[in-house]
Amino acid sequence: MGTTELYHLSIHAVLPLLQRRMLSAVELTRAYLERISALDGQLHTYITVTAEVALDQARQADECRAHGEDAPLLGIPLAIKDVICTRGIKTTCGSRILENFMPPYDATAVARLRQAGAVLLGKTNTDEFAMGSSTEHSAFFTTANPWDLTRVPGGSSGGSAAAVAAGLAMGALGSDTGGSVRQPAALCGIVGVKPTYGRVSRYGLVAHGSSLDQIGVLTRDVRDAALLLRIIAGHDPLDATSLDAPVPDYERELQRDEGLRGVKIGVPKEYFIAGIEPGVETAVRKALNVMEEAGATLVEVSLPHTQYGIPIYYLIATAEASSNLARYDGVRYGLRVEGEDMWQTFFRTRALGFGREVKRRIMLGTYALSAGYYDAYYLKAQKARTLLRQDFERALQQVDVLACPTTPGVAFRIGQKLDDPLQMYLSDVFTVSLNLVGMCGISLPCGFVDGLPVGLQLMGPPLGESMLLRIAYAYQQRTDWHLRRPPISVQVSGG
Ligand code: GLN
Repeated sequence: MGTTELYHLSIHAVLPLLQRRMLSAVELTRAYLERISALDGQLHTYITVTAEVALDQARQADECRAHGEDAPLLGIPLAIKDVICTRGIKTTCGSRILENFMPPYDATAVARLRQAGAVLLGKTNTDEFAMGSSTEHSAFFTTANPWDLTRVPGGSSGGSAAAVAAGLAMGALGSDTGGSVRQPAALCGIVGVKPTYGRVSRYGLVAHGSSLDQIGVLTRDVRDAALLLRIIAGHDPLDATSLDAPVPDYERELQRDEGLRGVKIGVPKEYFIAGIEPGVETAVRKALNVMEEAGATLVEVSLPHTQYGIPIYYLIATAEASSNLARYDGVRYGLRVEGEDMWQTFFRTRALGFGREVKRRIMLGTYALSAGYYDAYYLKAQKARTLLRQDFERALQQVDVLACPTTPGVAFRIGQKLDDPLQMYLSDVFTVSLNLVGMCGISLPCGFVDGLPVGLQLMGPPLGESMLLRIAYAYQQRTDWHLRRPPISVQVSGG
């Protein structure tokens, strides 16, 4: 097989090749590492490439196979967003303050991937502490969108999304606090799943907004997402908010493609508003028609508090972030800039270690939590959050899932929204509510506008992943958007 083709195959297509020993894990990993060397100079998806670790793991995977052993992801090369801890591998969070931070432990999700035999290619670029929608807030560099190098890949898991889309990883982990898995998945034309709050352990995920954060998966198709999610999901005693509920075999459940007969899909009218790019709306409406033809019933529903999603999110997320980030003081982790006394050391470390967006959020969050304003802002936001949850609960009594665009527009130009934080925040207008209500969602490719991908978002009830994936799969089986690959190319040897 030519190595070029390997970059385009999905995990479920490569696994049987590995199992039948038509391809070795070392060959596969080498192909990916070569692709990274050839393309990452243009794309900037990785902060750290762990070539040696990867080849070591690949060799071990091949040895295991030679001894007749198998594991669900044995020999599959994956990437991890750099806000997720990896033992002995630098975890920077896209920040100067953790530029040289070496975690002494693996996040539970990473440990589970390792246990399943996955190969770790490296750590991907992210907005600093996952605060952003474009990777432009990374302290190191901006990732380019593989469909158009002058555009952002979305964020904050933009490195993971671009790597998977361009064939620089077979799949990746990201984190989603307000859309950071789904939004970059949409802008890069791949699949991204934000699991129910508590479905995947947050142990080892560097905290942004603790009541919102979830680790999610980014893959080229729905079946791969099902495969990875099953590995990382499940109860973890190390995370007090992790849910003790059985994990279905998501992938097996896809196999019974029953079409969409009997499925009720809610179309929230507040998600089809003025301001959404016409091409995006057209693509999503077409996707809804495909689902209708496959047997689904479309029902218009209302989530009346949608317009408060962004203000609620930016009060709660910044409040939690300001508290979570207090730990970076030059004493316990990462950067330390000496001052004349303890206070000056704190100030200097934080002044030099954090970037502008992170500082903006620490200030906003501290203000919202301050004694004089707590009731007016933070408490009010928590109350409004309850109303938002009730909107979702009410809607999901009438329908099985909700469908809408993942983002109001396609990938924007690098620099376009950097000086206008409000515009940047608005790119998450359709994703933040789901984190506030703790439910699950998926973004999957549903079309293109001028060569740039459009994402369809499905949102479901707590622990509704299995149903979401089945509906997404039924749609995917009837379309070929997930088979399109970005035009980026290099001359590769060994074809
Ligand atoms: N873009 C949103 C923010 O900046 C969401 C980030 C995320 O999900 N990590 O907070």
